[in-house]
Amino acid sequence: MIKALRGTKDILPDEITLWDYIENTGRDIFNIYGYNEIRTPVIEEASLFIRSIGDATDIVQKEMYVFSDRGGRNIALRPEATASIVRACIENSLFHAGGVTKLFYTGPMFRAERPQQGRQRQFYQIGVEAIGSDSPFIDAEVIAMAIKFLEKLGIKKFHIKVNSLGCQKDKASVMEKHKESFRPHLEKLCADCKGRFEKNVLRIFDCKKDSCKVIAENVKTESALCGDCAEHFKQVKHGLDLLGVKYIEDHRIVRGLDYYTKTVFEITQEDLGAKDAICAGGRYNNLVKELGGKDTPAIGFAFGIERLALALAKPSSLACPERSRGKPRASSPNVFIAVAGERLYNEAFRLLNDLRKAEISSEMDYESKSLKAQMRRAEKIGAKFAVIMGEEEFKKGKVILRDMEKHSQEEMDLKDIVMKFKKVGIVL
Ligand code: ATP
Ligand code: MG
Repeated sequence: MIKALRGTKDILPDEITLWDYIENTGRDIFNIYGYNEIRTPVIEEASLFIRSIGDATDIVQKEMYVFSDRGGRNIALRPEATASIVRACIENSLFHAGGVTKLFYTGPMFRAERPQQGRQRQFYQIGVEAIGSDSPFIDAEVIAMAIKFLEKLGIKKFHIKVNSLGCQKDKASVMEKHKESFRPHLEKLCADCKGRFEKNVLRIFDCKKDSCKVIAENVKTESALCGDCAEHFKQVKHGLDLLGVKYIEDHRIVRGLDYYTKTVFEITQEDLGAKDAICAGGRYNNLVKELGGKDTPAIGFAFGIERLALALAKPSSLACPERSRGKPRASSPNVFIAVAGERLYNEAFRLLNDLRKAEISSEMDYESKSLKAQMRRAEKIGAKFAVIMGEEEFKKGKVILRDMEKHSQEEMDLKDIVMKFKKVGIVL
């Protein structure tokens, strides 16, 4: 039997309600803040990610799915969306003169990682990009919007960590400082981190190895921001205070990707164990220019949808545990038509069509099964009503209407059935 590839998962009909809930909640919140949806291709030229994320990052070196297509082009399955969106903005001139281009997205991303709970090779993200302003108010607003999204989803016990990497110059001096802090521990770092020490010391903070994590948690960290960047960060924090966002300042939040500058942040959720990061984001003021556009500052974030779904499945993570979305079911029809006697199938098929024409979700069994078996199926798929067509009633132009929830039934004229459902208000 052919199975789904390691690290990929089917999202089954029973789970889709939860996924829709997450994506629709995101859409609602992001719309309120002025964001419009964008969908970019899943495949891009590999060089887009190599240039933006950085050719020495784990994502590019170890995790990116790259292949040569039939024309010999070097193609990548997107590992994240920011670079694609910036590419799309430049290519389609989506920049608003003097304003901010606000975009959101949701879709699959691909990284060849070791699969485990909350970590897959094809996973989904929902995120935003605000392109066109360096205002610290935007940073505060973007972080506050991420919180609003979590609150609207009903998730609690999350923590926001913020930091500023400063401008390109500050990043260089902060790296020098970190190098000095890590130098005494160099021998004890893993082989990868020894390489990171030379190429980009910030990435040591993102190492997943326990021994490196202990070192990274204990090294001295200090901020090395220039006057402008220090003021920017102060204003971001001021903005967060204004908006009532509670955060922790943590110099260890560095985000390993090359394109980040100034504000960076992460949100974790307590109940998710080792994979507790649900959202990551930050400023990328040099990326638009780097990819061939005008010098345009920008900021964004991405949530991992699998991890949001995991949090939503845990009553302990919810503001209202009784509203747990742990066991959602696929949508059920409003009406099930059960037929006693093969001769009535034509009538039943016609009624099914009339109900659907009136936009009433309805279902029947297409095989001739016993009435009992049909009613069992109506129960199983969660139909709210059953219309039972029996020979005797049908001769009088009648059917039996059974309320599956109240377990009560009544005889009705067949011709009134569609109107009846309109009256009961099943139609939205
Ligand atoms: P991690 O430290 O967990 O590897 P990351 O720094 O690689 O995360 P980002 O690239 O910033 O993550 O992605 C933002 C969010 O996307 C993460 O916080 C996480 O929720 C989710 N995410 C990232 N990689 C995966 C994956 N392989 N499977 C599922 N979700 C993921
Ligand atoms: Mg990762």
